[in-house]
Amino acid sequence: MMSPTILISVDDAELSSSLLMELGKFDDITVCLPQDSNAGDAQMAVCWHPDQALLDKFPQIQCLHSAAAGVDHLGKGLLESGLPVARIVDPDQKQGMLEYVLWCVLNHHRDFDRAAKNQAQQQWHLYPQLPANEVRVGVMGLGEIGAHVATGLAQFGYSVSGWSRSPKQLERVSTFSGPSEFTDFLEQVDVLVNLLPLNQATQGILNQSLFQSLPEGACLVNTGRGGHLVEEDLINALEKGWLRSAVLDVFAAEPLPAEHPLWTTEGVTVTPHMASSSSAAMIAHQVHQNILRFIKGQPLLNTIDHTLGY
Ligand code: NDP
Repeated sequence: MMSPTILISVDDAELSSSLLMELGKFDDITVCLPQDSNAGDAQMAVCWHPDQALLDKFPQIQCLHSAAAGVDHLGKGLLESGLPVARIVDPDQKQGMLEYVLWCVLNHHRDFDRAAKNQAQQQWHLYPQLPANEVRVGVMGLGEIGAHVATGLAQFGYSVSGWSRSPKQLERVSTFSGPSEFTDFLEQVDVLVNLLPLNQATQGILNQSLFQSLPEGACLVNTGRGGHLVEEDLINALEKGWLRSAVLDVFAAEPLPAEHPLWTTEGVTVTPHMASSSSAAMIAHQVHQNILRFIKGQPLLNTIDHTLGY
């Protein structure tokens, strides 16, 4: 029997070649790139910002695998194709996200952002030191990553709350759910961390009305997707002093264009979509597991719910 074939449709040369190498280590599957002569045999595609004409060009593809935790990069056409879509769920990525968010929370809580600003003006200024339990962190999205971040911050002593679509119970985290509890959640948050998936329901959710619901002087951490943020509303909120700062890891346009105002907006820290990633070896391992399940007729692991879009 022919071994199952996986096509790599990854719009990032480095990731594409790492996946080619890692998937190539499994001798019970065949791996190919779109230009290869056997690409037409592919039953599964592993994707990062894939070719939108993928299914027209390679009609044997019967399932899609995101090379990331998020699936928004697949685009509407592929997400609505009806094919099963699996994604990466990775303990190391969850921990990496917790580390990134902890840095953001400490930066705000222990006033490192203010110290850096003061240093630039040769100003020596001390701020009162609050205990961690007086800092209120709110996490939007309590899924695989958000729940790990929320419980990890709570273990660190912060006062943590979280918001999700459906009600959740998490140790030492107060939880809110649905649109009806959104404002109550926001009103008691000093550092707001976005870990929602990007879809129709969450596009533009980080907007003026949200910023006005937060206590004055709050900090925004956007580690979800650029499409969650209305950039001009954030710049306005920082200029007006509604927000003290924002740490942004994801942007509507990536790489962030050199002339973009967010590079130089006071109070904004820009990081290059580095909050947390999975290794190519981990992605390849999960893709390999799933293609073997697929050919045995078993359900794929970590699939999205098409009606919810995540
Ligand atoms: P999950 O699908 O596991 O969790 C999503 C969470 O968001 C769930 O708790 C879900 O609620 C909640 N949610 C979804 N829609 C809504 C809504 N309309 N209102 C309220 N809550 C909602 O995703 P992950 O935790 O694995 O990943 C989250 C996102 O993090 C990814 O989609 C990606 O965009 C981003 N990410 C960013 C990285 C970076 O480096 N910057 C790295 C990895 C991920 P419920 O539980 O009720 O379904």
